Amino acid sequence: MADLTGRTALITGAASGIGRASARLLAEAGATVVCADRDEPGAQQTVKLIGEAGGAAYARALDVTDGAGTAEAVRETVRTHGRLDVLAAIAGIMHSSPVLETDEADLDRVLAVNFKGVLHSAREAARAMKEQGSGSIITMASGAIDTGMSGLLCYSVSKAAVVQLTKTLATELGPYGVRANAIAPGFIRTPMTARDDATAQARGEEAMARATPLGRVGDPGDVAGTVLFLASDRSAFMTGQILRPNGGIAMPW
Ligand code: NAP
Repeated sequence: MADLTGRTALITGAASGIGRASARLLAEAGATVVCADRDEPGAQQTVKLIGEAGGAAYARALDVTDGAGTAEAVRETVRTHGRLDVLAAIAGIMHSSPVLETDEADLDRVLAVNFKGVLHSAREAARAMKEQGSGSIITMASGAIDTGMSGLLCYSVSKAAVVQLTKTLATELGPYGVRANAIAPGFIRTPMTARDDATAQARGEEAMARATPLGRVGDPGDVAGTVLFLASDRSAFMTGQILRPNGGIAMPW
């Protein structure tokens, strides 16, 4: 078992889906977890679930598009808990529209959360971790980086940018003992991928499962396991990499 006893983790997007599952698993492994999200009641619910399981967690209202507020949330975590060992920058939004119908406002909105939001938290975390001489930054990309996907211009561009940010951080911070890795999940069943039409949802998931060697879509716990691995010393020699919990639906080199 990866042991995070004595470690502090800040997780953005911790009110829902992959972020909540990751917060719960890191707390189970012994970390003190700061659960940040713009959905504050959702973050509090995550903290409640962690508390019921015997873990330690705190909720923090945070909109990652607010650069100064996000940097302050990182500094506050270090002030309160004495250190920052893990940043999992998971908060993200989805936007779907064909290129010909995509305007700049769509692109700006998605980049503000999915790219600049990650930059805001990762940059401040990197400062603290560099001073500390250790730390793991984990970013959330997507399988959309590996192929062209109809309607996903804004989303896939934002996730490709996250990968380049991660590789740059890995290069610049490796000499200071700080690691940075990206996760590119396949289709995961979360509120983000839920559709209003239950029948269309079931059909879509069925088609996705058929195309996936492991024969199913993912659940948030499938990604949380990868977050835990990257957060722990089990991945101590790994930086600048993209890990793909995707059931085998894509197998890039
Ligand atoms: P989710 O259930 O919608 O969770 C995302 C969380 O991030 C929500 O609580 C959301 O709050 C929060 N958030 C959004 N914008 C924010 C902001 N500006 N500041 C702070 N928090 C914000 O989605 P998920 O499926 O778990 O996705 C988590 C991450 O994994 C995302 O980066 C997503 O792109 C990535 N991912 C997901 C899949 C998948 O199939 N689900 C696949 C690949 C990658 P609101 O509810 O208020 O928006």
